[in-house]
Amino acid sequence: MTTIADRLSIAQSRINQAAQKCSRMPSEIKLLAVSKTKPVSDIIEAYQAGQRLFGENYVQEGEAKIIQLQNDYADIEWHFIGPLQSNKTKVVAEHFDWLHTLSRDKIAKRLNDQRPANKAPLQVCIQVNISHEDSKSGIHATEVMALAEQIQLMPNLSLRGVMAIPTATDDISVQQAEFSALARIYHDLQQRFDGIDTLSMGMSGDLDQAIANGSTMVRIGSAIFGERGT
Ligand SMILES: *Cc1c(COP(=O)(O)O)cnc(C)c1O
Repeated sequence: MTTIADRLSIAQSRINQAAQKCSRMPSEIKLLAVSKTKPVSDIIEAYQAGQRLFGENYVQEGEAKIIQLQNDYADIEWHFIGPLQSNKTKVVAEHFDWLHTLSRDKIAKRLNDQRPANKAPLQVCIQVNISHEDSKSGIHATEVMALAEQIQLMPNLSLRGVMAIPTATDDISVQQAEFSALARIYHDLQQRFDGIDTLSMGMSGDLDQAIANGSTMVRIGSAIFGERGT
């Protein structure tokens, strides 16, 4: 039987190999362990194997886990990677360290107002809709700079980069086009602002492509924690 520790180390070797293939340093690429729907005991197991970055998709579930682990596992870095509605921003502002799915000025303002004064600024990535599917969340590439300018004016938010969920496809050329489009936006942001260091792209199925295109954070769930029930 493979353990969470085994699967974490397999995921890490996949990152290392993908980095080597394109002559990048593996240390430039962070592994975000996506623990949505999984019990706190699984997070603790991953923690004991050295994992510190965890991603959650659901506001209430994430909040409950953070509260449960905040005393004994205070150095976990919690990333919110799910869709965020404006009536749920307070939970994210009060409990999470990062948000990957910022795509609206109104949500940014709420988070900035709701971030507690005793906490570091919320670290945010703008979610870009690079697949141009209407159903996908995220803002259009042409709107990223304007939102980034707004975020710069908010002292309790710190803009770190961009994130995307690409089209689910095995077509390498589609994947490639989308990843390189996101990488271009990331580089544009870096030209314009300080502190931009996060290109959040790549999941289990498209890790190599994402890393070849400059990803600095890959988000892996089921390959570490096992398949999720429905
Ligand atoms: C669930 C999720 C992941 C991880 O997906 P797996 O298929 O479990 O590896 C990555 N990114 C986002 C935004 C997710 O919602």
